[in-house]
This record gives sequence, structure tokens and C-alpha cells, in this order.
Amino acid sequence: MLSTADHTTERPPYAAWLRSTNNITQQFLSLGNRPDVISMAGGLPASELYPVAAVEEATRAALARWGSQALEYGPVEGLPALRDAIAARISAATDGLFTRENILLTTGAMQGLDLIGKVLLDPGDLVVAQFPTYLGALDAWRPRAPRYARLDWTLGEPGFAETLRAAKFVYAVPNYSNPTGVLVPQQGRRALLEAVVAAGTWLVEDDPYLPLQLDGSAGPSILAHDRAARGTERYDGPVLYLGTLSKSLVPGLRVGWVVAEPKIIQMLALAKQSTDLSSSVFTQSVALSLIEGTVEREQVARTVAAYRARRDALCAAAAASLSPWFEWEVPPGGMFVWMRATHPGIDTNALYAHALAENVTFVPSSVFDPSGELRTAMRLNFTRNPPDVLAEGVRRLERAVRRYLAA
Ligand code: PMP
Repeated sequence: MLSTADHTTERPPYAAWLRSTNNITQQFLSLGNRPDVISMAGGLPASELYPVAAVEEATRAALARWGSQALEYGPVEGLPALRDAIAARISAATDGLFTRENILLTTGAMQGLDLIGKVLLDPGDLVVAQFPTYLGALDAWRPRAPRYARLDWTLGEPGFAETLRAAKFVYAVPNYSNPTGVLVPQQGRRALLEAVVAAGTWLVEDDPYLPLQLDGSAGPSILAHDRAARGTERYDGPVLYLGTLSKSLVPGLRVGWVVAEPKIIQMLALAKQSTDLSSSVFTQSVALSLIEGTVEREQVARTVAAYRARRDALCAAAAASLSPWFEWEVPPGGMFVWMRATHPGIDTNALYAHALAENVTFVPSSVFDPSGELRTAMRLNFTRNPPDVLAEGVRRLERAVRRYLAA
């Protein structure tokens, strides 16, 4: 665990927000590289499927096309031609008109979350977040010290309309949420949008898993519903939509985007300027070459087929091994199965140590709870490992549960 108290007494202490954070993500990323450990923890794609040769070819094409411009500092908002391409993609997906002014290119969607925190949050501000909540978002906003309220998708809880009015923004991952894999139905999206518009707040729609539709289709985004509801020529609504090439191509490009109305895009660009001047124009130019051709479409088809088989293998193994103690739904997309303990004696924070002793890891639910109190579930990733390794991982988990309950 990260020690934030190990500064020497002669030097000034670290900033206060570090006392409320953790290095769980770093731990998971490093455990993913230990050959003796089966990691079902990180949200990592199947790297053996990465289109290495196509990226090599796209890199050559990008350098031939852009020359030294690809190696320069770029405009803060990103490579204009890629902004146009993303605007065209969003226009097609929403059946509306989006232009370059609606697009900020970011260093992954993760940076979009960080910049939104910088632009919208003062200490103590309220965020209404889908619960459980993506750990990366909680991490990104920790230095801003927000308060959290749960997003109630039924909108029926007493006082929820007032909660929305008091919020700086709502945060939701409607497509195959991280950590639960839940696909929010269209009716729920429309109802939330209406409530957000009525409350006069912002809505952050984080959509990294859109390409990973394993069963059926995800349907329109909340941004698409809002675009359709407004007849305006240029998008001026409250949705800040985050996308990325991390799941449809490769995370190493670190190419993501924010789609929003032009004024807040300018504010986000202002915050970005002091964060990194600009994202890498080099990888943006490579990304442009990749998405202009057929590489992304082929990569998504290959990935989805592999992930479907992996998800099914994990769920079949779990049905054979873990059903006495856990329940879950088979996720229709994304990268994760969310397992809720049905056995009252299970605390997944405590189970974690036993799992590590059996050389298998998962993410305990507590890290997805802003208050850290949710200790009855765990997130299992099914994309990183092939089916036979997942099956072995689940057998190890079963041994860990038995060992834990016997202790
Ligand atoms: N949002 C969610 C919900 C995620 O799960 C992730 C990472 N898997 C991200 C944002 C960040 O994605 P990236 O920075 O790789 O685009």
C-alpha cells in the first residue's frame, strides 16, 4: 500500500489530498506482469491481439504525410484533421452536426476526466455518480476533493431532483459500466437526460466500452438523445461525452476525446494547456491513418469475437466454482464481470489477501465506492487472459474463498 507519511521531517509534507488516495491501479498494472499470478484485476485488453504491423504501416504513412509537423508541439485542442474525423464520427453516431469546435483531443479519456475536474470542481462540490463508480474517475477528482451522491437511475428517490440541482455534474458510464458491466436501458438514459436538463447541471457520459458490444447493440448514447432533442445547428447541450481509441485500437496511442459545446471545450483546452501543452501529435497522426482505413473495424471485430469467448469461459468456470458464494449477470459487453457475494461472511477486501496467496487477483468493490464501504463484491476482468487461464484463475479463486472461510 502507498505510504504518504514517508517524507522526512525536515522537508515540507506532501499535499493533503494524497492522504485520501491509494496506488491500487499501479499495483494491478504491475501484478499483471508477474508470470506466476493470474491477474483478473486490471482493465487490460488482450495485447497479443494488437495490430502491430498495421500500426507500423500507419506510422510510416503518418510521417510521410505530416513530416516534421507530426513531431512538433501541437495545438492544445489536438491535430485539426483528427478533430474533424472524430467530429464526423460523432455526427454519424448521433445523427447530428458536430464540428471541430465541439472536440478536444486528450491523452486518453482519462485526461478528459482530469480536465473536467479541473474546470468544474471546487473543493466540496457535489458530484452525482453512477454507483459503484469507475476508480479512475474517483482518482482523477480526488485532488479536487468533491463530495459524492449516488446516481439513482429510477429518479424516484425522495429529494433526488434537489440533489441534481445541487450537483456540479452527473457522472455515468451507460455502456457496459466499469466495474459492473451494466448496460443502462434507453428509457433510463432519456429519463436521466430530462432530469439533468431540468436541474440545469452538466452530464459527463464516459463511453470507452462502446466498441465492445458482445451481445446485441448498445443503442444511442445520451449525447445522441440530447442532440436529437435540440434542433440547434451547433451542439450547445449539457453533455460532456468522452471517447477513446484504447478499446477499439490500442491504449498505447493514448488518444481520447471530449465532445461538448464549444465554450466548455475552450475551458477544457485552457486547463489542458497547463497540464501537458498538447497531447502527442505524433500518435494523433498515426491514429488518424489507422481510423481512416479499415484497421479499426477489423480490430474491433477480432477483439469482440475473442472477448465473447473469454467472457463465456469465465462465466462458465464461475458457475462451476463460485456459485455457492457469489451471484452475477453475464455482461452484454465491456471487460468485466461483477460478482456480488451471497454468503454473508464474505468481505472482498479480506478475500483479496487469500487470493494473492493463491496467485490470483481481482479488484475488491471497496475501491469503486467513494466512501470505501462497499465490501461485498469484486470485479473480474475477462479480456486479458485466454479461456484456459481464466478457468484456472477461477479455480484458484475458489480455493481462496474456501481458505478464507475456513480461517
Ligand atoms: N473511463 C472508464 C470508465 C474506463 O474504464 C477507462 C479505462 N479503462 C477510462 C475512462 C480511461 O481510458 P483511456 O484513458 O485509456 O482512454
